This record gives sequence, structure tokens and C-alpha cells, in this order.
Amino acid sequence: MRPLKAGISRGAMARNLRVARAHANGARVFAVVKANAYGHGLSRARRAFAATDGFAVLTLDEAANLRLMGVEQPILLLEGLFGAGDLAACGELDLWPVLHQPAQLDWLERAPPARPLHVFLKFDSGMHRLGLPLAAHAALVARLRGMAGVAGITLMTHFAQADEAAGIDWQLHPFLDGVKTHELPWSAANSAALLRFPHACGAWVRPGLMLYGASPFADTSAGELGLQPAMRLESEIIGVQALQAGEGVGYGQAFRAERPMRVGIVACGYADGYPRHAPTGTPVAVGGRASRTLGRVSMDMLCVDLDGLPDAGVGTPVELWGTQVPVDAVATAAGTVSYELLCALAPRVPVEDVD
Ligand SMILES: *Cc1c(COP(=O)(O)O)cnc(C)c1O
Repeated sequence: MRPLKAGISRGAMARNLRVARAHANGARVFAVVKANAYGHGLSRARRAFAATDGFAVLTLDEAANLRLMGVEQPILLLEGLFGAGDLAACGELDLWPVLHQPAQLDWLERAPPARPLHVFLKFDSGMHRLGLPLAAHAALVARLRGMAGVAGITLMTHFAQADEAAGIDWQLHPFLDGVKTHELPWSAANSAALLRFPHACGAWVRPGLMLYGASPFADTSAGELGLQPAMRLESEIIGVQALQAGEGVGYGQAFRAERPMRVGIVACGYADGYPRHAPTGTPVAVGGRASRTLGRVSMDMLCVDLDGLPDAGVGTPVELWGTQVPVDAVATAAGTVSYELLCALAPRVPVEDVD
């Protein structure tokens, strides 16, 4: 059997949820489980996060699956309705849609579901992606309050730079100044805002990444935040090459040996979700010891440096990311973020539950 597999710890996920709750400043917590729970599996996330106050998803399919699995907590649809046809399911499944553009209000007004919905009215406070204009808040809230299809309103916004030095106050203050007159609950914080800015927590927080044990910050590791990696991507060496000085390895011969050295060939490639852009030097653990990748990542394989690891050979375990190699370190080396690596875990990689 091909030795590549992902081991996922529900225990770590449950502990990370407790870290989120400890930072939430009394807010209720939506566990964000979009994108197959950031690659960790929706059903596994449902069990790991049984203690959450709610779940947040992207699609009706994900929401319907959670209800089928027996979820009774509120379920937030992060982008709300994609068409008027989504309203019936929201009513039947008791989902909380985000309303971020005027047509969504029109649909709800024209065809109110039999069971009125709790809605999240999303304002653009500066990210300029999704959201209604903050300047129109009074009219919008008044309009929703008059709708038969609306059972309750939470006000919402999203931060563009919660993980950066610019922070959130440039968005939070205009948002709160605008909406505080309505005396309605509000929700703004993702993982980064929740971890750094307790005053941004409001009534509901929406952590995603941190629940999976990765860090939203470039300058602070998951370990420093008290988070435990939930996913471990591991494989083995399936071949060994001895290079002479000047010989190259892999496509493009992108790495060349400066002196004689041993190279391990590992069963993991970009078709498994390992980033193809990871350059020579990307961290990896071979037999529990720190090493680095060499040359280009291929579809099914990558190469690692066995210099200084004389005992390593065919069958030696290799951790691509997990407890020894933070997924954030691999992402940084590859010029991306851990979000992308976790979500990109390929369906062909077998997943097993650990601890
Ligand atoms: C994905 C998402 C989140 C979670 O963000 P993290 O950075 O993973 O914590 C929160 N809010 C919204 C609107 C999202 O789309």
C-alpha cells in the first residue's frame, strides 16, 4: 500500500475549540467548517466540535449534511442565498443566511419562508468584497424589521487585515458607530481578530483556521498561540539515490549536488495536495529529524536531503506537515498560507483518525 496518509486528531480540534472559546470574551462561537472543514472532513468536524454554539458553512449542501448528521445548533450560511430558490431550504433546515447584497433582501421580502429566519445582515466596513454599504444601515435594518420572513437580525462585517499590523480598528469603529443605535447583536471576528482583539468579539465569533491548529499570523506560530495541529501528513521514503557532485535531481534538475550526497524519494506529490511551488529547502521531517526538500515537487513524489541522516532509507517515515513540521512553515516556504494547503488535501490521500 502507498504509505502516504493524513492522520487527523479530533482531540486536537476539540482542544483548539476550547482555546477559541477562552479568547471569545463571552461571545458564542461558530465553528467554521467550510471547504470540507478546511480539509479535515465535515463529519469529523461535526464530532470534534460537538461543544460549539453553531457551525458556519458556505453551501446548502454542507448545511443539509450537518442537519442529516444530527446537528441541532444554529448553522450560518456565510455567503447566504445564491438565488431565490435557496430560501425554501433555509426555512426547512432552519438555517441562518447572511444577507450581503440587495437582491437577497428582495427574495426574502417576496417569498418569506413559512418559518421566519434569523438573518445576518452583512456590511462592508472597508474590505470591499461582500457587504452592503454601511451608510445605508438605518434604512436596511428598518426594512428587515418590517419583513414577515425575518425572525431576528445579527449585524455582521468581515476584516481585511486582522492578521496584519494595520489591524481592525479602522473597520470596527465605523461599523460599530454605524450600527450601535440598533441595539442588535453583532459578529465580526475570524481567527486572527478573535486571538488578538477581544473588543472585536461581539455576540458571535467565527473562527476557522485556528480550530485546525494553524496560525493566521506570519509572526506568531500555532504553538505560541496554544494551538495543536489537527492534521499530520505523513509518508515514507520509497527510493534512495546517491548523487555525485554536479548531478541534479528531478524535473528541470532544479537542485544540483555540490558534493556527493544521498537523496530520499518520498511518496507525496502535488496531486496529493503538497504545493508544487515549495522550493528546495522547504522543511520536512525524516525519521523524526529536521531535513529539507530538494528540487521540484512532482505529481506523485518529492525529494528530500538525507545528508547527516545515515540511518534513513527505504521505509523511513517522513512527516510533510504536522507536529514536527508546522503546516505554516511549509506554506511560508511555498509562498502561500496554511489555509490553502489544508483545503487542498487531495481526495486520493487516505485519511485516518488518530487519538
Ligand atoms: C472563512 C470565514 C471565516 C473564518 O476565517 P478564519 O481566518 O479561517 O478564522 C470567518 N468569517 C467569514 C465570513 C469567512 O468566510
